[in-house]
Amino acid sequence: MTVQKIQRLLIANRGEIACRIIKSAKEMGIQTIAVFSEADRKAPHVFMADEAVCIGPPASSQSYLCQDKILQVCQELEIDAIHPGYGFLSENAEFAKKVEAAGLIFVGPSASAIETMGSKLAAKEAVKKYKIPLVPGTDFSIEDPALAKEKAREIGYPVLIKASAGGGGKGMRAVYSEEELEEQMDRAMSEARSAFGNSSVFIEKYITSPKHIEVQVLGDKHGNIVHLFERECSVQRRHQKVIEEAPSTVISPEMRQQMGDAAVGVAKACQYVGAGTVEFIVDKELNFYFLEMNTRLQVEHPITEQITGKDLVKEQLRIAQGEKLPFTQADLLINGHAIEVRIYAEDPHNNFLPDTGVLEVYKRPFGPGVRLDDGYEEGLEIPVFYDPMIAKLISFGKDREEAIQRMLRAMEEYHITGVSTTMDFCKFVLQHEIFKNGSYDTNFVAEHFRPEMLQNGSQEDKWVAAALVHSFFQEQKSNHKPDALATKEQKSKWKQRLK
Ligand code: ADP
Repeated sequence: MTVQKIQRLLIANRGEIACRIIKSAKEMGIQTIAVFSEADRKAPHVFMADEAVCIGPPASSQSYLCQDKILQVCQELEIDAIHPGYGFLSENAEFAKKVEAAGLIFVGPSASAIETMGSKLAAKEAVKKYKIPLVPGTDFSIEDPALAKEKAREIGYPVLIKASAGGGGKGMRAVYSEEELEEQMDRAMSEARSAFGNSSVFIEKYITSPKHIEVQVLGDKHGNIVHLFERECSVQRRHQKVIEEAPSTVISPEMRQQMGDAAVGVAKACQYVGAGTVEFIVDKELNFYFLEMNTRLQVEHPITEQITGKDLVKEQLRIAQGEKLPFTQADLLINGHAIEVRIYAEDPHNNFLPDTGVLEVYKRPFGPGVRLDDGYEEGLEIPVFYDPMIAKLISFGKDREEAIQRMLRAMEEYHITGVSTTMDFCKFVLQHEIFKNGSYDTNFVAEHFRPEMLQNGSQEDKWVAAALVHSFFQEQKSNHKPDALATKEQKSKWKQRLK
C-alpha cells in the first residue's frame, strides 16, 4: 500500500470538534477547509480554517447533513480528504461510499464496517466468532409480543428492549414485569421507527447498576490493531454521558488486558480501520459485556490522549494516508489520570432541558493540567439547531485525586453567563463521596442528584452580582460622590436588580 499524503482536508462538522481537527491537521502541514451553515457565520471553526465555505441554511438537514453539497465543495476546491468528526455524517455508510466513489479519502473506517457496527444486531452477529462476551438476550429482531414474552421469561426480568438501529439512548425501554412488556415494546418500536426509520427491536437482560466502560482502538490499513485502554463513562443523564474519566477506578491490570483483547477482537471482526470505540457494560461482579462499537472519533477522546500521550486525530489522518501505526501494543502505557466534563447549555434545574442564548460572559480556565476543547467565543449565540454542548473541559494529573482537584479549580475559573450550563451539576458530581470513591454506576444521577442540591446561587448569579457591583462603583465615580455616600437607595436598587 502506498502512502498518499493528504494536502487539503475538508472538515464536515462544526463546533469544538471541527476546531479540534483543524488544529491537528495544521500541525501536520495539511490545509484545512471548513464548511458552515448560515447560523455559524461567526463560529471559531470558520476563522480557524485556511478557507471556509457556507453550505446552506441553519437546519443541519440543509447544511451539515447535505452530502451532495459537501461533495460539490470538495470538487470545486480540489479537496483530497474529508474528516467527518462525530455526529452528522460520521457514521453514515452511504456517505463514506460516496466519498470514496468521488476519489476522496474518508477519514474513518470502510462503509461496510460502519454498516455492520451501525446495527446492534449485525454487530453482535459479526463478533460471535471472536468469543466476545455479549449481554444475555435475543440475537434477532422481535415483533411478535408472544415470542417476546417467552424470550423475556427465559432471560429473566428486568429486561431492556433496544432498537437495533439505536443511538443516543433512543428506542430503549426497561421492562420490569411481563404485564408491561407489550406496551413498552410498542413504544420502543414506534420511537425507533420515528428516530431511525427502522422499528427493529431486540431484548437484552437489563443489567442493574452497571458501569459503562469503553475501550479506544486504532487500526491501520495494514491489519494492525491496538487498543489505547479504557474510559469510564458511567455518569450519565438520559443514558447519555456527561463526565468521563480514564483510567477506570475498578479495573485491574488483568481485566484491562481482557477488555482490551476483546475490543481488538471486535475491531478485527469488521476489519476496522481508523479510530473506533468498543463499548462495554460492566455488572456489579465486574463481568463485562459488549454493547456496541462506535465507528468514529468519540466526544471523550481527549482523556485517552492525555493518559497515553497520543494525538488521536493525527493518528486518524496518518492511517487515512495509508501509513502504518507507529507503535505496537507493547509501546502503549497509561500515564496519570484524566477527567472530562461536558459543559452543555442545559438547565440541570429543569431536567437538563437544552438552553439557547448569547454567551454574555465567556472566560476560559488555564494553567497546569487543564485543557479546554471548545467551539464558541464570548458574544456568540448557542444556536437552537444543534447539539447544545459548549465545551469539553479536561483535567489531568499524576493521579485521580490531582485530576479531581484540578477540575474543581478549573471550573472555578471558568465563567459562563447568558445560558444555563451543566457546570454546577458537574461540580456537584466531582465533590460527591460516591464519585470520589469511584463506586458510581449509570444510576448515579437518578439516585443521587436533585436540582435543589446545587449550590445556592448559580455561577451566573455570582457573575451578575459582580457585574452589578462594578457598574455601581462606576456610577459612583462618574457622579463624583464620595464612596461613603454610596447611598442606601443605590444599594437597594442594586439588590432589586439582582432579584
Ligand atoms: P445508544 O447507542 O443508544 O447510546 P448503548 O447500547 O450504547 O445505546 O447504551 C447506552 C447506555 O444505555 C449505556 O451506557 C447504559 O447506560 C445503558 N444500557 C445499554 N444496555 C444496557 C443493558 N443491557 N442494561 C443496562 N443498561 C444498559
